[in-house]
Amino acid sequence: MKIHEYQAKEIFSQFAIPVPRGSVAEDADEARKIAEQIGGARWVVKAQVHAGGRGKGGGVRVADTPEAVAEIAEKMIGMTLVTLQTGPQGKRVARVLVEEGVPVKQEFYLGAAVDRAKQCPVLIASSEGGIGIEELAAGHPERIVREWIDVGLGLPAFQARNLVFGMGIDTSFVRTGTGIFSQLYRLFESHDCTLVEINPLVVTEDKRLLALDARIEFDDNALYRHKDLLELKDTDEQDPLELEASRHRVNYIRMEGDIGIMVNGAGLAMATMDLIKQAGANPANFLDVGGGATTEMVTKGFEIILQDKNVRGILINIFGGILRCDILAKGVVDAAKKVAIKVPVVVRLEGTNVEQGRKILADSDLDLVVAHSMADAAEKVKGI
Ligand code: GDP
Ligand code: MN
Repeated sequence: MKIHEYQAKEIFSQFAIPVPRGSVAEDADEARKIAEQIGGARWVVKAQVHAGGRGKGGGVRVADTPEAVAEIAEKMIGMTLVTLQTGPQGKRVARVLVEEGVPVKQEFYLGAAVDRAKQCPVLIASSEGGIGIEELAAGHPERIVREWIDVGLGLPAFQARNLVFGMGIDTSFVRTGTGIFSQLYRLFESHDCTLVEINPLVVTEDKRLLALDARIEFDDNALYRHKDLLELKDTDEQDPLELEASRHRVNYIRMEGDIGIMVNGAGLAMATMDLIKQAGANPANFLDVGGGATTEMVTKGFEIILQDKNVRGILINIFGGILRCDILAKGVVDAAKKVAIKVPVVVRLEGTNVEQGRKILADSDLDLVVAHSMADAAEKVKGI
């Protein structure tokens, strides 16, 4: 689960990681008031979307008066921001963060992530802050330092020092720098994060260290033990169909193609997506209704596929095991009563109660194309 920069900065503050003074605004008037409260002569207005690269995309702007802050906020709120990370469709901006403008002297990169290959957390530091760490890793890997963490030991002082020395910051900041790293790791571990990133951490002209940007991602599988964090979820950032699916515990991921699929079991879903690709088409989604699916879940899943405007054909591929074929068939028939099916539907059913399932489908007046094997299904998808 991703959260916004302003929310991540509130968590940073709880962990004594210094951030610029600021607050979030939902309209221009509120933005002006925040600027007046902060005081000073320079402010930064930042679009709050779940994507980086805002600086280059026009989502981070500097203002010299509270009126200018209001003007920028007026333009930003409601706009669709396109950055390298949003994809070409962009993301709608609902809020902006208004902060004190900071005189930046140097920018660094700090991060904590999960190294899946080494199966442990990794802390990352670099002298090159402000730019994408992926680009830097590709172009100048020697400018990145990493320390792999033994979760049993936590972050020992020597590793924190390696990181701080490695990022080449002035030695007068060693103590503050190691302090920030130990807090960063405490936050990462205690909140079950998959990513905590400070890009950039800056040294200001008046010799302060500040986290100018903040990014946190939580492990979805650990959210059950952080119920309070669920409140930070911004459902506007999610695909509406994926959101609806998750509300009904349907495992659905939207994709670029135009052949909708409904399958039981993640492995069979992968195989089915391969099959569609091999037939020269592209899957519109991943949908695993799972073993314990009820008729309602199948109905909901089918409804969701039908709501996707890109879908021009559907393949239902079920191997009835725990999910019986008759349950699946009933779900499809129920969904068809609610939503008009305007696209061809190919069905391949095998396994438990397959005869009952086929009968339910045959007795309905649905216009289905029955496939008798995986290979046959592939042929029939080709014909769509
Ligand atoms: P991102 O592009 O989405 O990662 O957004 P950031 O929060 O990292 O902002 C992009 C860049 O804007 C930073 O790397 C800084 O160079 C610059 N920036 C942001 N806030 C300030 C500020 O208060 N003062 C100055 N001088 N630069 C800032
Ligand atoms: Mn950044």
